[in-house]
Amino acid sequence: MGRWFRRKDKDRKDRSGPPGVLEGPTAAGQVPEPVTGEGERPPRDLALEPPEAEPPLTSHPDLAPEASPPSSETAALEEVEAEAEGGEPRRGRFRRLRERLGRTREALAGGMDRLLKGRRQVDAQLLEDLEELLISADLGVETTMFLIRSLQEKLRRRELLEASRLKAALKVEMVALLAMAPPPQIRARPWVVLVVGVNGVGKTTTIAKLAHRDLSQGLTPLLVAADTFRAAAVEQLETWGQRLGTPVVKQKTGADPAAVVFDGLAAAQARKVDTVYIDTAGRLHTKVNLMEELKKMQRTAAKKLPGAPHEVFLVLDATTGQNALSQARLFHEAVGLTGLVLTKMDGTAKGGVALGVVHETGIPLRYLGVGEAMADLRPFEAQAFVEAILG
Ligand code: GDP
Ligand code: GDP
Ligand code: MG
Repeated sequence: MGRWFRRKDKDRKDRSGPPGVLEGPTAAGQVPEPVTGEGERPPRDLALEPPEAEPPLTSHPDLAPEASPPSSETAALEEVEAEAEGGEPRRGRFRRLRERLGRTREALAGGMDRLLKGRRQVDAQLLEDLEELLISADLGVETTMFLIRSLQEKLRRRELLEASRLKAALKVEMVALLAMAPPPQIRARPWVVLVVGVNGVGKTTTIAKLAHRDLSQGLTPLLVAADTFRAAAVEQLETWGQRLGTPVVKQKTGADPAAVVFDGLAAAQARKVDTVYIDTAGRLHTKVNLMEELKKMQRTAAKKLPGAPHEVFLVLDATTGQNALSQARLFHEAVGLTGLVLTKMDGTAKGGVALGVVHETGIPLRYLGVGEAMADLRPFEAQAFVEAILG
């Protein structure tokens, strides 16, 4: 990451203007109004009027851990901040990931323990039983067979004999399968991310989480409300924008989403923000119309800012299991994805689908959504993930 993207947290706190308002005479002089509730401030169109002062970041309870009693939310936030600082409550972070992935872990690690009970040798039957377990844990047939074949090969070469070593061998294969993803990197400013996916998967929430993450790392995000089909969609993004103190570019309901993208990138350039997240509509992927709309947004972005969008993230809902795979294929074919975000990994036993989508699409998994709060986003790490579901 280029140095100029990574401002020190200290600099951010010292800025007299709130985040998202980098300059302009109004920002410094005004007393920011306190945030007393969501949705109280009138919506505004940033493309048409200059921004008012936003409340300081610390005025929201979610963002001021020192002002509120300890909770899992603040603990998660501290963790995000520690991570941003390079500081490390790594063990605690890993424990929480395990907790959040508890149901997938129960399916996989628990299932394997039951499978291995009383068995000493790896044999063809044991691998068959494992195959069944992996399929039932939503890895998908193709990915399951890929892993099983690797283990059969090891068995044939007599490298895998003791049943007690089967789990470790499987972990190695899973990490190798998942580890192809390079870590996300920002290489231009503004760095533009188009976020796509079907309705309800968690696009808007993920965008808020990504913006929150950027803020905690001293980056300045901007949100673009290009899901113009439903008024509620724009309002939802605005509410997050207010909570985060991050500007949201929008137009009227029903506006051409590509036009909103154009406005959004113009605002991003004028304000010199670091990152831009474009929220999009999610009508069923089987409707050609949505794909054409997304392609038009891509073309418009590229016209306004060569190289944009720099990333196209597909958000997938882990609870949909194998359905996520067909969504990934369709969106990839239409718009060319650069990364996947798997949401709702908390509370589902279908987290094994992570292995399936990565293996079958070849698209790197970038983030996991592990809850509804803004701190509930984890950069995907193959080793930590495999340990959490199988270790
Ligand atoms: P969109 O239609 O794709 O924009 O989806 P939304 O962002 O509106 O999210 C749909 C629902 O999923 C909301 O109730 C979110 O709070 C919820 N959600 C999103 N991500 C997660 C997650 O990682 N875990 C859980 N438990 N819920 C999530
Ligand atoms: P169809 O998909 O062509 O059958 O049309 P719809 O009934 O879905 O939509 C009618 C009009 O609304 C068309 O002009 C669409 O471009 C527009 N529209 C439909 N869905 C969306 C959406 O999700 N976002 C936006 N921006 N426009 C939409
Ligand atoms: Mg949405």
